[in-house]
Amino acid sequence: METHAFQAETQKLLDLMIHSLYSNKEVFLRELISNASDALDRRRFEAVSNPELASADDLAIELIANRIDRTLTISDNGIGMTKEDLVEHLGTIARSGTLEFLKKTDGGIDEAPDLIGQFGVGFYASFMVADEVEVVSRRIGEDKASRWTSHGAGEYALGDAERDEAGTTIKLTLKPVDGDAGVSDFCDEWIVKNVVKKYSDFVGYPVKLTIIEEAAAPPAVEGEDEVIDVTPSGPTEREVEEPLNSMKAIWTRPESEVEDLEFDEFYKHITHDFQEPSLRVSTSIEGTFEARALLYIPSKAPFDLYHRERLQNGVQLYVRRVFIMDECRELLPEWLRFVRGVVDAEDLSLNVSREMLQQDRQIQAIRKHLVKKVADSLKKLSKDDADAYRLFWAEFGPVIKEGLLDFEEKKGRILDLLLAPSTSDDTSLTSLAEYKERMPEDQDSIYYIAGPKLEVLRRSPHLEAFKEKGIEVLFLTDAVDEVWVGQGPIDFKELPFKSVGHGEVELGSDEDKEKAKEDLEKKEEDFANLLGAMKSAIEDDVKEVRLSSRLKSSASCLVLEDGDLSPQLEAMLRQAGQEIPERKPILELNPDHAVVTALGKRFETNPTDARIKESTKILLGQAILAEGGQLDDPVGFAELVNQLMAETL
Ligand code: ADP
Repeated sequence: METHAFQAETQKLLDLMIHSLYSNKEVFLRELISNASDALDRRRFEAVSNPELASADDLAIELIANRIDRTLTISDNGIGMTKEDLVEHLGTIARSGTLEFLKKTDGGIDEAPDLIGQFGVGFYASFMVADEVEVVSRRIGEDKASRWTSHGAGEYALGDAERDEAGTTIKLTLKPVDGDAGVSDFCDEWIVKNVVKKYSDFVGYPVKLTIIEEAAAPPAVEGEDEVIDVTPSGPTEREVEEPLNSMKAIWTRPESEVEDLEFDEFYKHITHDFQEPSLRVSTSIEGTFEARALLYIPSKAPFDLYHRERLQNGVQLYVRRVFIMDECRELLPEWLRFVRGVVDAEDLSLNVSREMLQQDRQIQAIRKHLVKKVADSLKKLSKDDADAYRLFWAEFGPVIKEGLLDFEEKKGRILDLLLAPSTSDDTSLTSLAEYKERMPEDQDSIYYIAGPKLEVLRRSPHLEAFKEKGIEVLFLTDAVDEVWVGQGPIDFKELPFKSVGHGEVELGSDEDKEKAKEDLEKKEEDFANLLGAMKSAIEDDVKEVRLSSRLKSSASCLVLEDGDLSPQLEAMLRQAGQEIPERKPILELNPDHAVVTALGKRFETNPTDARIKESTKILLGQAILAEGGQLDDPVGFAELVNQLMAETL
C-alpha cells in the first residue's frame, strides 16, 4: 500500500465530518446507497451498448451488518472504479457544491450544522459514523481491483486488491454508539432497516441486508441445576429475506399514496440536493404517446445556472421504468433548465441515443406537454402562495425571461409568470395582470424603463411626467430584459411594451395629447434658435436637441428614437462581437425649468455668449449621469461646474 495526502479542501471537509455535531448522521447511508445506485445505473447503461461486458441480471446493493466486528459494509456490482478513479473521486473534491459548502463553513460545522443538510457531502459523510473506511473497487472490464483506506486524517492508503467481480465494496468500521452525538447503532438490524426505508425506498435496485452476530446462547431451562455453557457458539450469518426497499418507481404510484417526505427524498436522491424542492409537478401524458413525469423545482438556483456547459441539469429519462440517461436536455427548453426530475416514456426504444432524441416526435410532444404543465403549475403557485412564488422568481426569474427570446415559445405564457418592481410600490413586485388592472382607462401601453440599477431607475428623469399623471412604470433590471424588450414588438394581452426613454411621450386622453402637442410645438418655435445653437455646441454627441413634455423637475434627459437599442444592449452586443452602427441619443430639455428659461433669456441678449455652449455641455453631462451613464470627459465636466460655482459663490 502507498499513502497519499488528501487535497487540502478534502481534509478540511473530513475534519468537519469527523468532529461534526450534526445530529442527522444516518444520512451517510443514503449517500452510500445513492452512489451505489448511480454506479448500477451506469453499468446498466453501459450494457445497452456493450452487453457482453456489462450485462448482469442480478444488479443489487448488499449491506452486511457485522455486530461482532461492528462494521457495516455496502456493496454493489455496479460500474466500479479504477485506481485512478479512487484517487480522483475519493481524494479530491470535484463537486463545486461541496467547495461552496466549505466556503460557508469557515467558522466550523458546529456553528452551522444545517449546512450539511444544505449541501450534499456524499461519500465523505461516512466519516461522521466511521473511524475507518475501506473501499475495494473493480472497474468493469478490468481484472484488477484496488483498495483505498483512510481514517480521515491527512492521508489515505492505496493498493491492489482482489474482488471476484466488478463493483464496489465500502466497509465502515463504526464509531462507538453515542446517542448525544447522533451516532446510533448502525449495525443494528432494526436501525438499518428503518434508515433504508426512510431515505432509499424508491431506489430501483434491491437493497439486501445480512446480519452477522454471535449465535444466541441456548435459553436457560428453569429448575435445572446443571451449569449451562454461556460462551457464544460462534458467529452466525443471516440474510434478511425481503429487500429493505420497495423499489417501486415513485412516479408510478398514485400521488395520494405517496407521502410528501418520500417525494422530497426522491428529489434529493436524483439531484444530490440537500434542500427540499420548492415545487413538485407530476403529470401523465396520454394519447398517441404515453409518458409520466415527476418534476421538481429546486428551492435555490444552482450557482452554475448561467454556465450552461457546467450545469448539471435536465431530467432523467426512463423508458418503461428502465433508466436510460441523466441530464436529458431534449425534454425541456433552455429556459426551464433548472427543472429536475424524471420522465418515463412508454414507447421509446431502450437503446435510444441522444442524437435520436433531438429528432424524435415523441420527445417533442412530451416536451410541449411538460412546458405547459410547468408553466401552469407556476402560475397556480403564484395565485395560491404569492410569497413562495416570489422566492421562486427571485431565484429563477431571469432564466424564465430567457424564454421570451425563444421563437418557438408562447410569449403570453411566459409574460404571465413575470414579476417586476414598479413605480406603484417601493417594496413589492407586480405581475402584468395586476399592472393592467391598475391602468387608467385611456392607457394603451405597458410602460417600462430598463437598466441595470433599480435605484438609478427609480430616480430617472424619464419618469417625471409619468409620476405626475399617475401612470405606473415597470422597472426591468435584468440583463436579459434589455434583450427581450429590444428585439422587436412584444405585447401582453394586446398592450404593447413601451420604453419611457424612447420616442415621444404622449400621455392621457386624446384631447390631452393634442393639447400637449400644440403647447410643445409653440414652445419649440420660441426656442428654435436657442435649440439650434445648443445642437451645434454638442453636435458630436447628440442627434438633436429638443423640448420635452416628459420632464417636470429635471432640466434635461437623453432619449432614444423608437426602435433604437438601449446603450446597455448595444454594449452587450458589441461585446458579443456584433457590429453595431453608431447611434446618437436626443437631448431633451424641460422648457419650464429655471435653467432652461434663463438660458433662453441669455440667448436673447447675446446669442454668441460662451456661457450657452458651456451650459449645454453641463446639461448633457447631467442627463448622462442621471441615467447612471459615464461621461467621456469627467474632468472637463468638473471644470465647467467649478467655473460656474466660482462665478456664483
Ligand atoms: P457524488 O456522488 O455526489 O458525486 P461522492 O463524494 O459521494 O459525490 O462520490 C464521488 C464520486 O465517486 C462519484 O461521483 C462516483 O464517480 C464515485 N463513486 C462513489 N461511490 C461509488 C460507487 N459505489 N461505485 C462507483 N463509483 C462511485
